[in-house]
Amino acid sequence: MNAPVLVINCGSSSIKYALIDSDPQAPRLEGIAERLGSEEARLKGKNSAGERFTQPLPGADHTQALSTILERMEGRLPAAVGHRIVHGGEHFTQAALIDDSVMAAIQTTAALAPLHNPANLAGIAATQNVFPELPQVAVFDTAFHQTMPPRAYRYALPENLYAEHGIRRYGFHGTSHAYVSQRAGELSSRGTGGWLAAHLGNGCSTSAVWNNQSQDTSMGLTPLEGLVMGTRSGDVDPGLHAHLHRQLGWSLDKIDNVLNKESGLLGLSGLTNDMREIEEAAEQGHATAQLAMEVFCYRIAKSLAALSCALPQLDGVIFTGGIGENSPIVRRHVLSLMPHFGFVLDNDANEATIRGKEGKLDSAGHDGPQVWVIPTDEEGRIAMETRHCLETRV
Ligand code: AMP
Repeated sequence: MNAPVLVINCGSSSIKYALIDSDPQAPRLEGIAERLGSEEARLKGKNSAGERFTQPLPGADHTQALSTILERMEGRLPAAVGHRIVHGGEHFTQAALIDDSVMAAIQTTAALAPLHNPANLAGIAATQNVFPELPQVAVFDTAFHQTMPPRAYRYALPENLYAEHGIRRYGFHGTSHAYVSQRAGELSSRGTGGWLAAHLGNGCSTSAVWNNQSQDTSMGLTPLEGLVMGTRSGDVDPGLHAHLHRQLGWSLDKIDNVLNKESGLLGLSGLTNDMREIEEAAEQGHATAQLAMEVFCYRIAKSLAALSCALPQLDGVIFTGGIGENSPIVRRHVLSLMPHFGFVLDNDANEATIRGKEGKLDSAGHDGPQVWVIPTDEEGRIAMETRHCLETRV
């Protein structure tokens, strides 16, 4: 299948899109329709010459925004649509051609991702209105982690909570972890083997991948578990909820909101959720920014060290995401906390590998576990999985 794939990531008031050719050198048409349903709705994007545009779409809904996106495709009509779907529960271990039964399964899983799956379903319906003749494929954030063994995905809770209510670790950022670990295997002299991946952006997660199969990951039932993130707390004592409720009278909604929106780098620093600003403030001696940086990096190192237990052999670590790809400070700090793992960082390579560059950061001649920066490509991976799903369907 050589024609382009349209990759769609639908939120409740936004649609991110990318038109991706099978030739990786071909320019991508990409952008975002945002604030849908309001008078401020607009489409922002990039054309094939790389020029940026903003088009107001007052009052537009998802279907109207998709019709405008179609007009912006410069006559390059897609052969299929690939949808990013946040939660596939245990139903989906790989991408699926969308039909009524797939829609019903995504609906069933909505209880596990109440903010995301309904918006994803609305996006599929709108896309079917605008592209009724195109095959549509669902690509799940959770699917890559379905290879985890029970020891990694089960919580130590009563069995019926798993069996009847699906309470278990699912993990997220699956397309990113899948892409960077496969790419590391292709680029590295050590090949496909045991890789630890750290996806560090606004959301952050780690994974342990053996032979291109996820063995464990830091996010859990929801994307709140694990590392410190921009505004998310990551791991806390599970007794915290009861304590805040009993001692401070906080409601569940308030606790949920504080842990998801007011914690993480923002909560610790009291300043910002943006790592660039944390780095600047820390550099200027701001104590809470320094603390936020220390907790952030320590928790990444601790998570990577823990996940190494899931691998029979360690071939290397991969940094990706906005912070992982752009912050030599975070990379150096994390690795300095793992001296017994045998990573040897070349400082010049670390400083030079930023802004979308792919690279190996080890000192020359080092033959221990390697350190890689691999810019993630979630849209490219979704397009690839969409093609694969259509080419292999029976
Ligand atoms: P993402 O969600 O992957 O877009 O990543 C967003 C995060 O990457 C934010 O915390 C940004 O501050 C961070 N980031 C982007 N560029 C840099 C940079 N040059 N140095 C440090 N952090 C950066």
